[in-house]
Parts: sequence; C-alpha cells; structure tokens
Amino acid sequence: MSETKHNWTKEEILDIYNTPLMELLYKAATIHRKSHNPNVVQVSTLLSIKTGGCSEDCGYCPQAARYHTAVEGNDLMSVQQVKAQALRAKSTGSSRVCMGAAWRNVKDGEEFDQVLEMVRTINKLDMEVCCTLGMITENQAQRLAEAGLYAYNHNLDSSEEYYKEVISTRGYQDRLDTIDNVRKTNVTVCSGGIIGMGENIEDRAGMLVALSTLNPQPESTPINALVAVEGTPLEDQKPVSIWDMIRMVATTRIVMPETQVRLSAGRTQMTREGQAMCFFAGANSIFAGDKLLTTPNPDVNEDMKMFELLGLNPQKPFTKKVQPQTVEAPESQFEALGEKPKWTRPDHKIERNEVAKEKAKTLK
Ligand code: SF4
Repeated sequence: MSETKHNWTKEEILDIYNTPLMELLYKAATIHRKSHNPNVVQVSTLLSIKTGGCSEDCGYCPQAARYHTAVEGNDLMSVQQVKAQALRAKSTGSSRVCMGAAWRNVKDGEEFDQVLEMVRTINKLDMEVCCTLGMITENQAQRLAEAGLYAYNHNLDSSEEYYKEVISTRGYQDRLDTIDNVRKTNVTVCSGGIIGMGENIEDRAGMLVALSTLNPQPESTPINALVAVEGTPLEDQKPVSIWDMIRMVATTRIVMPETQVRLSAGRTQMTREGQAMCFFAGANSIFAGDKLLTTPNPDVNEDMKMFELLGLNPQKPFTKKVQPQTVEAPESQFEALGEKPKWTRPDHKIERNEVAKEKAKTLK
C-alpha cells in the first residue's frame, strides 16, 4: 500500500503535470502498481434513469432545460426497466451500475422512494450500485446507504475559480457539502471533473487540489473530456488533446494513489493507443455501454476487444470494499424528513450561458 498525502498544493501538482512525459508516465505507472493490479480495469455502466428538463445551467450539459439540444427528456424509469438494464450490463462484464437523474437535488417523496427500490434491486443482483442524483442531505444519504448503495457520484467539475465560469445556479461549497453528507455514511465517494471546458492548466491542478485534499480522498474519480454538444454554451470548444488527457490521468494517479481513476466521457474521440496510454498512466476504470447519459460512448464489444488486445480483465464487484447490506423499506431506520435545505443560488451572469439560453428561446 502506498502512503496517501492530503496536503497537495497547486504548485506541487503543476510540477507533476508538467513533468517530461516519459518521466511522468514512469512515475504514475510505478505508483499505480503499489495499490492496484495494472491488468485489471473496473467496468461501470451509466444509466440515465431520468433524462433532461434539469433546472441547472451547467454549460456543458445537454440536459439543462434552458438550452436547445437534441436530447429528449424522459420521466423516471421503472424499477423493472432498471433491473433489465442492470442484468444486461452484468452479462457484458460490468460490475457497477451508476444511475443518473437530471435533478438539481433529491426531493423526498415517491420518486426518491422508487430510486431507493432500484438501489435495493441492483444490490441484490450482486452488482455495485452508484447514484448521481444531484445534491443530497445527510438523511437522504443515510437512506441510500441503508438501501445498499455502494457509491455516490458528485463531481466537482473544475477548480473553484473556473466553476463560476461554467455554472451559476449553485456554488462550489454546495458540491463539497453533498460529498460531506455522503461521507457521514458507509457509501463511497465518486468525484471528479471535466477537462476541455476552456479552463487552463492551473484550473486542472486546482481541481486536483480540491479532490486530493479531501480526507479520505474519493474512492473513485472520473476524468471526463468534454463532449461539446450542439446547443450548449460550450458547443464550440475544441476537443481535448490526448496528451492533455494522459497528463491529467497520470497526475491524478500520483496525487490520489488509492483512487480508481475512471476514463469517462470523451472516449469515442480517443484511439485505442491513446486509451492504452491512459491505462498505463494509471486509469483503471471505464464506463461501458453505447451511451453515457446522453452522449456517445464506445460499443461494449469494442471495449472487450480492446481489453483482449491489452490483456486487461474486468474487475470483480466488491473487490475494494465488501458488499453493503440491503435494509428493506418496512425495516428502515430513517424516515423521510421532507427537508428543504438551503442550497445556494449564486446567480452570477455567465455570458455564454445567457447567450445559449436566449438562442434556445428563438428556436423553440
Ligand atoms: S450536469 Fe446535472 S445538474 Fe447540471 S444541468 Fe446537467 S443534469 Fe442538471
């Protein structure tokens, strides 16, 4: 096991990021081997259980109601639909199902009860269950934990400074508060971000400072390359260079040695060679399935061919942590509190978000 440092500074992380590439790869690959089997990669399937119509203004997201994109909204899926998708994911090698709902925050009520039932159902299939449902309170996190949730995803997206250039409808501290609420339970934390949104290298380092100084550090960290979707404020962003992706993965691996580093959005733009370099640099998880919520992702058969070519094996579920117990709804110790937490609404102006919003009005 390697020693995890929790007081990384931006300068230290920038030094790592800017290390000559061969040296950086060697260092990251060496650290990777201390805590992980380099031939094992965890495979997750991301399922959009409620799509579109979101009240937030995340500049990268085609699910925000205020932008005009080709995404079609869907109401919350049924437990049976989710179960069928989970079984399919399991049969193609996924050990984890991550359920995403386009919500600002969780509201107690029928829909959340339905999500809790989905968590119970998937945990009983002996798969790791992850949810990404927006901001949650401690009580809601406890109820998810009781249902058998393995991980909760809540990305920091970028540095605190650059976050304000992308999202105006909630604050960075809200993100940290939700992560803190999850940490009060046995549920593991999944938190990462997106590169290619116009941020600079200092912002990338700033995001890694925020993540790596959490104690404990997140058990998993997705590194997304922006998929620029038409109609969103970031539609004109240039694709991220594979070299930036490799550097970001390697730096994440070095500052967060125990964390599962996940290649997430943007893999369709990467060659197999590029992805192989990312695995060498310490990435040890991918999202499988032909869609990532609403954006394209490589076909699972293609991924399995890549695994064969590289001699990689999918990680078995509950390798890193034991399977949580599921408590059935009637035995629950936690009641819905119907809380209305006061999340912030900074509501500062982001010019490009405003422009996209106005443009959408004329198209509707
Ligand atoms: S990223 Fe999540 S919170 Fe932001 S607009 Fe999309 S669905 Fe809503």
